This record gives sequence, structure tokens and C-alpha cells, in this order.
Amino acid sequence: MIELKNISKSYRTDTIETLALQHMTMSVPSGEFLSIMGPSGCGKSTLLNIMGLIDEPTEGTMTLAGKEIAGYNGAQMARFRNEQLGFIFQSFHLINDLSVVDNVELPLLYRKVGGKERRRLALEALARVGLSNRAKHFPNQLSGGQKQRVAIARAIVGRPNIILADEPTGNLDSQMGDEIMEILLKLNSEIGTTIVMVTHDERMAKKTHRLVRLSDGERVS
Ligand code: ADP
Ligand code: ADP
Repeated sequence: MIELKNISKSYRTDTIETLALQHMTMSVPSGEFLSIMGPSGCGKSTLLNIMGLIDEPTEGTMTLAGKEIAGYNGAQMARFRNEQLGFIFQSFHLINDLSVVDNVELPLLYRKVGGKERRRLALEALARVGLSNRAKHFPNQLSGGQKQRVAIARAIVGRPNIILADEPTGNLDSQMGDEIMEILLKLNSEIGTTIVMVTHDERMAKKTHRLVRLSDGERVS
């Protein structure tokens, strides 16, 4: 469960203040697959970054998995992020000089899981996204859709309760986009992973449980 109460975020420089989010209240129940849509600059990434503890709100309170985040220090946030959250980005964010399986192991490395167990869990995650036969390849030897599947394997290897996806199909053609959506839908329905996905694609949003629309930092539906 993700609960935002009256969350606002402003970016300030010497001369200008940008209100990226204004008094956002929403809750995402456990097991939901939620889409977020809205025009460029309306605050979608800011919202996802706040939910992901990458960015801090200027106002308001947030509860993640039953815990109010306000009291967390940096180390506690990093730990929570690593243990409870998985991230997927439009541009994949893989490390090009690590093999596929080494990329997938990364979140477990931060968690100090032993080498053999890391490998076992990473291969299991790759199997789930249908990429067992690419474990030893490097990212630049893969198609865009395959890269995104590696990124999903990396996001799920630590068995997070929540996946935050920022335009996961934005760089893919429609067939590859559909394949990525099928994987996310399956994770949600079979494992019960909560997913919050920013998308520009109405077709993808329609496949999820619920759609929230933003405009100028505010919810419009
Ligand atoms: P409705 O429009 O019927 O109120 P929703 O739009 O909320 O339902 O959800 C659409 C479908 O997704 C329904 O079949 C519902 O059972 C299912 N659904 C909604 N929320 C969840 C959830 N958290 N986990 C699994 N399935 C869900
Ligand atoms: P979206 O993801 O919907 O395109 P963003 O959340 O990236 O929107 O941005 C929302 C608003 O906040 C925009 O007006 C953007 O220019 C501004 N913004 C985002 N990040 C920063 C930043 N680091 N410094 C100043 N303004 C920012």
C-alpha cells in the first residue's frame, strides 16, 4: 500500500520556483496495477521519484508498506528502496560492461547476498522474463525489448512488493511494448506485485486496473 497525503513538491532556484506537484492525495492498494498519464512536464516523474524515495516532497506525508517515511534517514531510505522497491525506466539503465546476469544480480550485491545464491536468484528472474538463453550476453548484444526484459529481471530479483515503472514501453515498438506489458501484467496477477506505471500510451493504460491523470502537478481524474 502506497499512501500519499497532500504531497507537494517545488523546485527552487534563486529566481524561479516550479511547482511540480500540488497537494497530491492518492492511495495505491497492495496488488493494484495503476497507470499515471498526463502531458509532458505535469509531474509524473516527480511523483514516481517521490514514491520511490529518490526525491523528497516539500510538503505532505507518505506511507509505504505501512511505514511513514518522514522519520527515515538516508540509510534507512536506501535500505527500504533496495528491499521493497523495483525500478524500471524508459531507457533501461543497464550497465553495458556487465553481462546480463551480472546486471540482474546488482540489487542483491548491495544486499550482500552470497555469490552462489545471487547467481541462482538472477537466473530464476531471467527465466521469468524468458531470457535464460541470454545470461552471458552483454546489453549491447540485445534488442530493446530484450534489454527491457533484463531491466525487469533486475527489478524483480529481490522480490520487491512494489514496482515503479517510468514509461517502460516508451522506447519500444508496439509488439515489444506488448510483450513487456504481458510480463508486467503477469507479475501483478500471479505474484501480486503492486505496480505504478507512467505511460503516454492509452492502449497500455487500458490494460491496467486504474488510471490517474495529472495536469500541471494536480490530479484531474
Ligand atoms: P471496476 O471498474 O469493476 O470497479 P476496476 O477498474 O477497479 O474494477 O478493476 C478492473 C479489474 O481489475 C476488475 O476485474 C478487478 O477485479 C481487477 N482488480 C482491481 N484491483 C485489483 C487488485 N488490486 N488486484 C487484482 N485485481 C484487481
Ligand atoms: P513529467 O514527468 O510529467 O514530464 P516532471 O515530473 O519531470 O514531469 O516535471 C514536472 C515539473 O517540474 C516540470 O515543470 C519540470 O520542468 C519541473 N522539474 C522537474 N525536475 C526539476 C528539477 N530538478 N529542477 C527544477 N525543475 C524541475
